Amino acid sequence: MTNAVTNPKTREWQAMSREHHLAPFSDYQQLHEKGPRIITKADGVYLWDSEGHKILDGMAGLWCVAVGYGREELVEAAAAQMRELPFYNTFFQTAHPPALELAKAIAEVAPQGMNHVFFTGSGSEGNDTMLRMVRHYWACKGQPNKKVIISRHNGYHGSTVAGASLGGMKYMHEQGDLPIPGIVHIPQPYWFGEGGDMSPEEFGVWAADQLEKKILEVGEDNVAAFIAEPIQGAGGVIIPPETYWPRIREILAKYDILFVADEVICGFGRTGEWFGSDFYGNKPDLMTIAKGLTSGYVPMGGLIVSDKVFQVINAGGDFNHGFTYSGHPVAAAVGLANLRILKEEKILEKVREETAPYLQKRLRELADHPLVGEVRGVGMLGAIELAKNKQTRERFPSEMGVGMICRGHCFESGLIMRAVGDTMIIAPPLVISKDEIDELVEKARKCLDLTARAVLV
Ligand SMILES: *Cc1c(COP(=O)(O)O)cnc(C)c1O
Repeated sequence: MTNAVTNPKTREWQAMSREHHLAPFSDYQQLHEKGPRIITKADGVYLWDSEGHKILDGMAGLWCVAVGYGREELVEAAAAQMRELPFYNTFFQTAHPPALELAKAIAEVAPQGMNHVFFTGSGSEGNDTMLRMVRHYWACKGQPNKKVIISRHNGYHGSTVAGASLGGMKYMHEQGDLPIPGIVHIPQPYWFGEGGDMSPEEFGVWAADQLEKKILEVGEDNVAAFIAEPIQGAGGVIIPPETYWPRIREILAKYDILFVADEVICGFGRTGEWFGSDFYGNKPDLMTIAKGLTSGYVPMGGLIVSDKVFQVINAGGDFNHGFTYSGHPVAAAVGLANLRILKEEKILEKVREETAPYLQKRLRELADHPLVGEVRGVGMLGAIELAKNKQTRERFPSEMGVGMICRGHCFESGLIMRAVGDTMIIAPPLVISKDEIDELVEKARKCLDLTARAVLV
């Protein structure tokens, strides 16, 4: 390893990690052998670790730091709100200005007819809220049997019991006896990995038709909702074939079930539109949000609810659900300031017209690399498939851990790029400049070269 530890503080922090800290999604023994890299500060699209290395953050934190690090406006918004009213709840017939103003500001950018917001502390809580709300909705309509939620294999909807159950990650289901009853999964529209001999267009229709098949199998009278990310993020930036969403829309129009878009990653500009649903022309009844809502400066999530759903639950008495921090005033103040930055700096327009097309063009240059089977992306999302054979899409044996080797080289070379199996993914801050995109792509190529040298013998 080139990154020998020289700062004594690094060792102290790594000892604290070993002795006291349980990190998410980690193999603790493995983590403690080497010790975590300690990130100490950030500015713009860059991070610094405790050893003084500068790293280009190709993942915007965890898909969330849309407006980049070091935004004083967000710091000021939080500080001012903490001085004025650091906390009050929104239970029991009270409210406060930041939560109300943010709900209105979100409704202004949400698709037409989606005017109501339930706030949560995270995306997972947003999906828990969704599960309870859609079942409550059907009960209010006198159809309490409509409970089943259809989701997709390899979708990601969070890590709470409901979130992990809605998600389709096998390795998550294996722990804790998930999914909970009432949640069923259909195949994902992942052509590169699962398309077989079909063309992407044929496969898109096939994958969408699995929804209809499942509705008929479970019985329309038992299905409450279908949930999907417009583009699967944690599953590997899976861009559905062009035929997928149009066919899904046709199927949804035939059956009386709710459609939930999990916009936790796609929401707030990641595709260049306000929501991934806008990008694809989808018309969801509910949308889960988090991440880009506050650019990750403080935790906040929520559920955007259509007028159609609202009208039913509005007449349904108490909705017995909520979190202490629903609509937290500091988070809401930061969310408001974040939306203001996105609008005033015309960040979505810039992404759509300038930087995203540039990123997508430059990323695709990597497709000629011997290790790369496919490059795909939309907006500020990208994926590079590492494959043994470009033509047949044959993968490397998973024991080789080629994705992790590549991720390791990126880490050492000052680029955060995430590995999902052998799929390398990026989701940089929306404010990344063309020069920084050049740096990202050049570093990515260098890491691909280093990885190829290690695995293509
Ligand atoms: C991150 C994520 C979640 C979960 O959000 P948390 O804030 O981590 O609970 C849910 N859905 C999608 C699509 C996500 O990417």
